[in-house]
Amino acid sequence: MDEIKLIDEKGIRLDGRKSDEVREIKMEIGVIKRATGSAYIEWGKNKVLAAAYGPRDIHPKHLKDPTRAVLRCKYSMAPFSVDDRKRPGPDRRSSEISKVITEALSSVVLLEQYPDTGIDVFIEILQADAGTRCVGLTAASLALADAGIPMKDLVAACAGGKVNGKLVVDLMKDEDNFGECDLPMAIVPRKKEVVLLQMDGILSRDEFNELYEMVMNGALKVYELQKEVLMKKYQ
Ligand code: UDP
Repeated sequence: MDEIKLIDEKGIRLDGRKSDEVREIKMEIGVIKRATGSAYIEWGKNKVLAAAYGPRDIHPKHLKDPTRAVLRCKYSMAPFSVDDRKRPGPDRRSSEISKVITEALSSVVLLEQYPDTGIDVFIEILQADAGTRCVGLTAASLALADAGIPMKDLVAACAGGKVNGKLVVDLMKDEDNFGECDLPMAIVPRKKEVVLLQMDGILSRDEFNELYEMVMNGALKVYELQKEVLMKKYQ
């Protein structure tokens, strides 16, 4: 089978980006009045909403933890968010993404400050074009900050991968579908600590090290935008 051309000889990708360029990103906070905090992100063709509630009573009550708040993040894809209608309701992929996002955010939210309560974050993918777990996690972290929930730092995410043998950041849908590797990553930027790292595909050790740096830089750019939108609120 002929290889699908995703990047040309000059290193320019199908949407005109260079290998280390992140798609255009727009962020907003405070978009949902009934939520304690919320965020909306357009990232390339991805459109993602996140709403945080709490700290509040937790149901079912047996989940209560007397030492800390229980953080629950739920990632859902709208049926109309993808080309083939997505069957509504939970599935293995959404459960996995909800779990990794919850774990990533648990490392920054100061849960010990709110024992016996629950903090819920709902992430709704309205339009998907690859990298939705990164966009969802970035939005969830902003929603928690917008809610005024104390955190050590934000969490910023970005993906990288390999297409036609070349390393690139922030894969779009065609690159995700026809590329050789997809590597989503989330960081706590101040410490450059990695709180989510998944990999689908194969890379050599050198390629991994190079892509890791590229994705780290991508995530740091995302962090700058997160800070900018939060600062605007308080100016
Ligand atoms: N996707 C889809 N239908 C699905 C799940 C995913 O069309 O049921 C698309 C969607 O555009 C998504 C992309 O495939 O963004 C890549 O999915 P992946 O599981 O790699 O997660 P993501 O890159 O979105 O974090």
